[in-house]
Amino acid sequence: MPYYPKKIVLNKIKYNSPSGFVNVGKYIPPFEKVKKGFGYMGVIVEDYESGKLQCHICGEWLQMFNSHLAQTHKMTSNEYRKKFGLSISTALRSKKLRLNQSAVMIKLMKEHPERFNNKFSHNGFGKGNSYAGNRKGKQKAEETVNKYGVCDLQIMDRILKLRDKLGKTPTLIDIKKEYGAGFVGHIHKRYGSYIKLCHENGMIPVHSSLNPKYSKEYFIEKGLSNEVSHRILTINEGRALYKYFKGGVNEWKKAVEKIKNEN
Ligand SMILES: [Zn+2]
Repeated sequence: MPYYPKKIVLNKIKYNSPSGFVNVGKYIPPFEKVKKGFGYMGVIVEDYESGKLQCHICGEWLQMFNSHLAQTHKMTSNEYRKKFGLSISTALRSKKLRLNQSAVMIKLMKEHPERFNNKFSHNGFGKGNSYAGNRKGKQKAEETVNKYGVCDLQIMDRILKLRDKLGKTPTLIDIKKEYGAGFVGHIHKRYGSYIKLCHENGMIPVHSSLNPKYSKEYFIEKGLSNEVSHRILTINEGRALYKYFKGGVNEWKKAVEKIKNEN
């Protein structure tokens, strides 16, 4: 399970905007800067005073994006959302405009209830909503992931924080203790394994004279990112396995299943 922030805080940060500050809503830093353009991936910044939103492409501050995107950038809203990691449901309009429009909608619904009683099933927000971020087999937009504090940068940020706290590259068990099994699950989903994450980010996964290369955990991780079988082990690993699992592959398999079920 992703972890959900307990309370929603509207974050205000310094930013090169008309008022010098922007709201980043419920998004959680650190953010990833857009490489060619403005602002951050998966985040819409809103000028603190005017409420205008910044275009990721040209940096202009606008109440509404649709016509700007079509005319200036020859792009649809959904292409824009996809390019900058925004959720498909994110409105590309300022909050002020959205409030006005929703007031108009509420008035219309009161006046013409018969026109609005198809609930939410046909307009893309009910059960059949294929745009939702939590559908199986569908990659989440960065924005959805970001809200739960598990975008790549945040995974790394948390691991580096723990590394500083412990004074060593944390083991997967350290990470689980600090951030919970859900967080470990996300690491496996994003990277396949913690060892892979370490390598991709230039960290040396834990082995030294104090932490030997092989450990119970080493094999469990290997099992989590692969099928549990002799075939995935090198000759040295095959020998070491019995040191940590007296019952060999069967005991190893049980240990992997147990961790899998906990996640
Ligand atoms: Zn623009």
